[in-house]
Amino acid sequence: MEWPGADDLRAAADELAGRVPAALRPLARVAYNYRWTWQPGGPELFASLDPHRWEMCGQNPVRQLREADPELLARAAEDGALVARAEAAEALVRAEADRPPASGFTADRPIAFFCSEFGVHVSLPLYAGGLGVLAGDLLKQASDAALPMVGVGLFYRYGYFHQRADLSGLQHEFWVELDSRRMPVVRVTRDGRPVEIRTGLWGQPVRLQIWRADIGAVPLYLLDAEVAGNDPVQRWLTARLYDGNRTIRLGQYAMLGMGGVRALAELGIQPAAYHLNEGHAALAGLELAAREVAGGADFASAFAATRKRIVFTTHTPVPAGNESYTAEQVATGLPDLPARLGIEAPALLDLGRAHPGDSREGLGLTPLAIRSSRRTNGVSMRHGEVARQMWEGVAHTPIGAITNGVHLPTWMGPAFRELFERYLGAGWEARAADPALWEVVDRISDAELWTARNRARARLIGVARARSLTDRLRRGEPIEYVRAAASALHPARLTIGFARRLASYKRLGLLVHDPPRALKLLDEPNPLQLLFAGKAHPSDEAAKRIVQAMFMLKRAEHVAERVVFLEDYDLELAHELVAGCDLWVNLPRPPLEASGTSGMKSALNGGLQLSSLDGWWVEGYDRDNGWAVDGGEVADDVARDAHDAAELYRILEEEVVPQFYDRDADGIPRAWVARMRASLRTLGPRFCAARTLREYMTQVYRPA
Ligand SMILES: *Cc1c(COP(=O)(O)O)cnc(C)c1O
Repeated sequence: MEWPGADDLRAAADELAGRVPAALRPLARVAYNYRWTWQPGGPELFASLDPHRWEMCGQNPVRQLREADPELLARAAEDGALVARAEAAEALVRAEADRPPASGFTADRPIAFFCSEFGVHVSLPLYAGGLGVLAGDLLKQASDAALPMVGVGLFYRYGYFHQRADLSGLQHEFWVELDSRRMPVVRVTRDGRPVEIRTGLWGQPVRLQIWRADIGAVPLYLLDAEVAGNDPVQRWLTARLYDGNRTIRLGQYAMLGMGGVRALAELGIQPAAYHLNEGHAALAGLELAAREVAGGADFASAFAATRKRIVFTTHTPVPAGNESYTAEQVATGLPDLPARLGIEAPALLDLGRAHPGDSREGLGLTPLAIRSSRRTNGVSMRHGEVARQMWEGVAHTPIGAITNGVHLPTWMGPAFRELFERYLGAGWEARAADPALWEVVDRISDAELWTARNRARARLIGVARARSLTDRLRRGEPIEYVRAAASALHPARLTIGFARRLASYKRLGLLVHDPPRALKLLDEPNPLQLLFAGKAHPSDEAAKRIVQAMFMLKRAEHVAERVVFLEDYDLELAHELVAGCDLWVNLPRPPLEASGTSGMKSALNGGLQLSSLDGWWVEGYDRDNGWAVDGGEVADDVARDAHDAAELYRILEEEVVPQFYDRDADGIPRAWVARMRASLRTLGPRFCAARTLREYMTQVYRPA
């Protein structure tokens, strides 16, 4: 099955292929499909051309090839091994495109997966955090599973912000404009002209063009308002992910939901189901219903028919993630929507109210999405329970749970991937969801597991030294503080990671809740070192202050060498951190962490978890495979934070540090390795995207 835009992608790839020596043409075609990112050796293939330029180009292969020095390309074309690898990479993409669809699905009736963000690769910066990375992981897994799927999102011209900290630790934000001509994306055309659709907003039509990026066999369609005929405000709709202006943001959600439905119709794509991944796309349901009404149906039957085609995943109980808009904002933004649906404005608002008829309530995207869908699920068992309570009375069928999982080929780093491949043979990743497969860890010796762990950590320490050195120089830190990071992070020391969006409920601050006790953990003879990273939402002042509070400690003894804040957390840094850290810490205030996924990535790399009992860890933790901070029943937040911080320090002091440093004659920490083994065996098969997608396929996408 060829999705619309295939010719455009071919033309762009051929054009690039025409600029490089004949032997490298396959490489140019590989560059236009993100499949290389999860092929073993894929990133290395491009990096080997010129490692320095590869980083300068932000690991974007299209830009790298476009800007490459002809002499360098000529030399690469002589490299038989490199050419053979490029040919194999291209052959793989072709072979996968020709597979029959997964059983139970038809090639021309895809699942349309709507999301406001997609985290596919660092060179396509259309994500803010876990939601987007999960969406990217599911597209990759759908490609692996030959599930017919198309992604639908927005092409934010400035992506998400970049972060710099100043000397006081205060976050500053800046945005960089993306250059689509140097990215592996193409504008979808028909008869030589860009396909354009129109979606109403603020009483006027907004024009949208459509980009396509290929994620293996899955096309990702991205709507873009940077089009002649749109005024500057309309164009701003697809400027920044999660724009701070609420009028713009509602407009963005209208473009995603309503524009997305229109775009698929215009492209001739007929989805078997629309999957709304989080409430941002909720207006898709009303757009579908409005189209039925335009065809002569009354609203009730139109909405009932629509509901059969939509499924919804809610991703967070946090209020900021469950936005609602006032009657006035809705009337201003979508003035003609009630008429298109054949209902009055209050009836429209009622569709998005937890309590229909309560005129103080606005249009909530989550209730709207729940009512528009045949089925809703949360993203862990615990979150399913929380969502059932939260939306009692709104959901017409019980809210279910499908626990998130991460795309193994994307997130398992080379040290553990190669170790598993030695035992299981090439291609083992395809069976990642089979628990029997993971029994192999019982055959892998302690020494081998420990060697893989040491290898992974050493690589991270190299990266962290280099990055923290430049971070500190750029901030203008005193030179001795700059040098401290470069020389003192130690490749054999217990390395702890904390990296994620810095939302307040994730409680980074618990780590320094009791500064003297925290500082003692950095002390000889068995010190730990802490790497932390994350962006605060630009308007979240409280979250920004937590990072500043941690910066205040930097003059304390050992902090300069053993605590490093790595700026500008993104997919690239995430790969390094989850692969290298020995212990991954997550301290959300229950029950606000719906799932959490970075810990799953760490577990695939032999990292151990120390986490609050919330989200995925409630079902992952079994006493032997990591540690849990169990807060019990503490009502108020202040008391709970104090209790959880004390418990965190106790676990670190009494269990984590001793077990890591207690070595036998061979230098192996036996108890630690036993936990690593338990962690890999119990968590590997359950928290991978292969298991998650299989559940979506069998429980959600296939109508009963
Ligand atoms: C996995 C990931 C996240 C999600 O982290 P949580 O610990 O689940 O909050 C956020 N950002 C990036 C870049 C990620 O890769």
